[in-house]
Amino acid sequence: PPLYRQRYGSVYETLLDERWRTKVYTLVDFGCSEFGLFVFVKRLNHLSKILFVDIDEEMLRQYTGKLLPLTIDYIRRRQGPLDINVFLGSVSDPDYRLVNVDAVSAVELIEHLYPDTLDAFPYNVFQYIKPKLVMVTTPNSDFNVLFPKRDGFRHFDHKFEWSREQFQDWANNIIIRFPNYTVSFSGLGEGPAGTEHLGQCSQMAVFVRNDLIVNEYVSETCCVCICASASPCRYS
Ligand code: SAM
Repeated sequence: PPLYRQRYGSVYETLLDERWRTKVYTLVDFGCSEFGLFVFVKRLNHLSKILFVDIDEEMLRQYTGKLLPLTIDYIRRRQGPLDINVFLGSVSDPDYRLVNVDAVSAVELIEHLYPDTLDAFPYNVFQYIKPKLVMVTTPNSDFNVLFPKRDGFRHFDHKFEWSREQFQDWANNIIIRFPNYTVSFSGLGEGPAGTEHLGQCSQMAVFVRNDLIVNEYVSETCCVCICASASPCRYS
């Protein structure tokens, strides 16, 4: 599939991960643009609310029609209702309506942010909203040597494009500031054979709030004795 579909697909797969599927009900998509993520996530029955946020009012007004139900949605109904909200705003600005939303996605957003907005992003997300899950994708500049046009960025509005090392430094610094999160990285969009050392075209960081994993671990731990094995343990 084309890269943009792989990115949405990765958000979809991450939301479906059985480690937290039953604990994630609400999602905010920052920099939602034309609501491209919507068709991927609207079928997720464990989601009950999606909040879309973008700073481009004209874009939001132009594409909100894409959020209306399609004929297929009446035929293949969700198990429960889905509440959809669209907000005009910046990823850098705290908004009480987003506090405690379970998951945050920012698909190809951060590279569009000026330094002050980029600096504010982690404070709004990890300190104010405090979601259980945060999914961030951005281009991998290591991969750019494979493109014919070598000067400039992939898009005129990009303020930067980061190598895998730069992106991982940024994300690991967030973890230092907000140690109640853990981060993991992956790549999206395979290059041709022989270019594996460049990584993939896009890169993704998934931040998980530690209690999301710990709770599950505790619930799977043997509760009869204190051996911390999966339940039931061989001593019980
Ligand atoms: N996430 C979408 C996708 O993958 O299809 C689109 C990403 S588009 C490349 C970047 C979007 O981020 C634009 O719609 C732009 O208006 C929005 N944006 C730029 N700065 C923003 C900010 N500070 N807060 C929220 N959205 C912002």
